[in-house]
Amino acid sequence: MKASEFLELISAINQLNHHQRTVLTTTLSQLSDEPKVSELIETAFDTKGHYCPHCSHTESYRHGLAHGLQRYRCKACKKTYNALTGTPLARLRYKSKWLDYLDAITHSLTVRQAAIDLDVHRNTTFRWRHRFLTWIKQDRPTILHGITEADETYLLESHKGSRKLDRQPRKRGGSASKRGISDEQVCILIARDRSKQTIDFVAGNGPITKAILSDYLKPLLDSDALLVSDSNPTYEAFCKAENITHEAINLSQGQRVVKGAYHVQNVNAYHSRFKSWLDHFHGVATKYLPNYLGWCRVMDEDRNITPEMLLNSAMGDFQHLTVT
Ligand SMILES: [Zn+2]
Repeated sequence: MKASEFLELISAINQLNHHQRTVLTTTLSQLSDEPKVSELIETAFDTKGHYCPHCSHTESYRHGLAHGLQRYRCKACKKTYNALTGTPLARLRYKSKWLDYLDAITHSLTVRQAAIDLDVHRNTTFRWRHRFLTWIKQDRPTILHGITEADETYLLESHKGSRKLDRQPRKRGGSASKRGISDEQVCILIARDRSKQTIDFVAGNGPITKAILSDYLKPLLDSDALLVSDSNPTYEAFCKAENITHEAINLSQGQRVVKGAYHVQNVNAYHSRFKSWLDHFHGVATKYLPNYLGWCRVMDEDRNITPEMLLNSAMGDFQHLTVT
């Protein structure tokens, strides 16, 4: 735009009414990041490898632009798609605000605070939270090495936000009606090796079992792994059955460290960091717990995670968020 035209534009701004100013502000803010976000999306799509999300065929024609993204037509099934088709981010609106939203994720903002900061409805930031985290939580180590601590912790099951309840609603922060670990509690299993690679699972309701450990933990342990747990006999039985070297710490007898090296302090500290981080969301529905576990894991250790790294992971372009 010529300088003289720009001056005219500026003087025209003075004549805008309140509504027009609001529209202009929104338009300007949406202008800012959209091309950058589109470019990041296209790059992540190229990195992951192009294929048709409908039939997995790898050859396509370019088929115009839609919503700021290249559209493709599959040579095999003739359906069209773009970089977001088949991902949890498909059809989400306001791309210009995605990096700002992912910045809010790096600061663990609540749904309400992110909605205020981004000037969108809180239903939008709630939807974004869980769509973005769907694949971000899967960007995690594939194997744990050497001394690996494992321990479970429990949270009261919550049906927050659910319309149907098969029991009386509990007050926020309520307590279980049964003593000890029962099926009212959700088991969370954390394992962490000494290079701080961490994995987390929501392992169902009630106490941890040998079968759960075999299903969830065994595939992630390298053959050189030495598992350290508390004295819960379930871990001992699991290690025996799966031929895994094992050290048990008898915490109830005041034992903290065995043979100068083995303890479960890292994983227990992780449990408490997770629980206190979770507290500031004022209760979360159990069905979303895997997302929160993944979120906490990604943000743990102050690893300078950027919104751009999160966007890559949210699109399934992984290995940006694991500890190296
Ligand atoms: Zn196809």
